[in-house]
Amino acid sequence: KAKSLGKNRYCVYNDGMGAKEVRRMELEKDLQLALENKQFYIVYQPKWNVKSNSLYGFEALIRWKHPRLGIVSPSEFIPISEETGMIVPITSWVLENACSQCKIWQEQGIEKPVSVNLSNRLFQVGNLFEMIRKILNTKELDPHLLELEITESMVLLDLKDITQQLQSIRSLGVRVSMDDFGTGYSSIGLLDQIPIDALKLDRLFTNDIGTPRKNAIINAIILMAEELKLDVIAEGVESQEHIEHLAQLGCHVMQGYFYGKPMKVKEIDEWYKHQDGINRNALEV
Ligand code: C2E
Ligand code: MG
Ligand code: MG
Ligand code: MG
Repeated sequence: KAKSLGKNRYCVYNDGMGAKEVRRMELEKDLQLALENKQFYIVYQPKWNVKSNSLYGFEALIRWKHPRLGIVSPSEFIPISEETGMIVPITSWVLENACSQCKIWQEQGIEKPVSVNLSNRLFQVGNLFEMIRKILNTKELDPHLLELEITESMVLLDLKDITQQLQSIRSLGVRVSMDDFGTGYSSIGLLDQIPIDALKLDRLFTNDIGTPRKNAIINAIILMAEELKLDVIAEGVESQEHIEHLAQLGCHVMQGYFYGKPMKVKEIDEWYKHQDGINRNALEV
């Protein structure tokens, strides 16, 4: 068995769960040097406003190109980096790069916000406000062009503290959105306490859209968001059918493979040039 596994001889001692554990430990170790060794890069996914037929903004999503294992998904390494604390320098890196890129786009005439995902852990280190303020300053970026995506699992932290941190960050002009809304620790009570600008409707809703029960729930969320003056962005929009259903329910901002996968900057620039022909006709209502 050892031979058939080639160089990965440590796998001999493991079956199933064991191999997973080994990979985890390996990733944990390699994460320490990944920043230094420039193994991370960012891809951007567009959010499209179907009402105005225009770009709403971009989301920055991190990628890790591991020298041996290839592309490792953030769903795998972000949780590890949260445990080890590496998430703090990683997020700082993402923020710096996303802000630089946003500034470049702005100078090219694409003046749209770029959002960055924030782990809860960032609110526990105590200097998030300072980190963001500094980066915005250094990059000379208009704070309105930065958006932070937080998640419902915030509810597990000290809400009063989170609220205060978010308030000071928002006072800079930075936008905040609630990611993956509606599927986590929910949520509706949280909206009354946590100061935000937008809701991102979890992909699961988009997936199931069309059945009367799901539509009723989505509809209620959208109506509530409107009353609270929050934008609603649908995640996981993959088809014309999704768009039509969502638009009918009053959701006008879409993010998903239908409009564009997460792309490197070069691809985004190419994508942007061709928008007229592709997306403008997506919604015929
Ligand atoms: P998320 O923030 O909810 O991001 C959306 C995820 O859904 C992304 O996966 C995106 O590629 C994927 N997605 C977008 N459109 C579609 C679609 O139409 N269909 C389907 N099936 N999927 C779609 P990705 O890039 O693998 O990221 C996974 C998660 O990792 C993110 O979920 C976010 O929670 C986390 N993440 C990514 N980058 C960062 C980062 O820089 N910092 C932190 N803290 N977390 C990050
Ligand atoms: Mg997100
Ligand atoms: Mg999301
Ligand atoms: Mg999600």
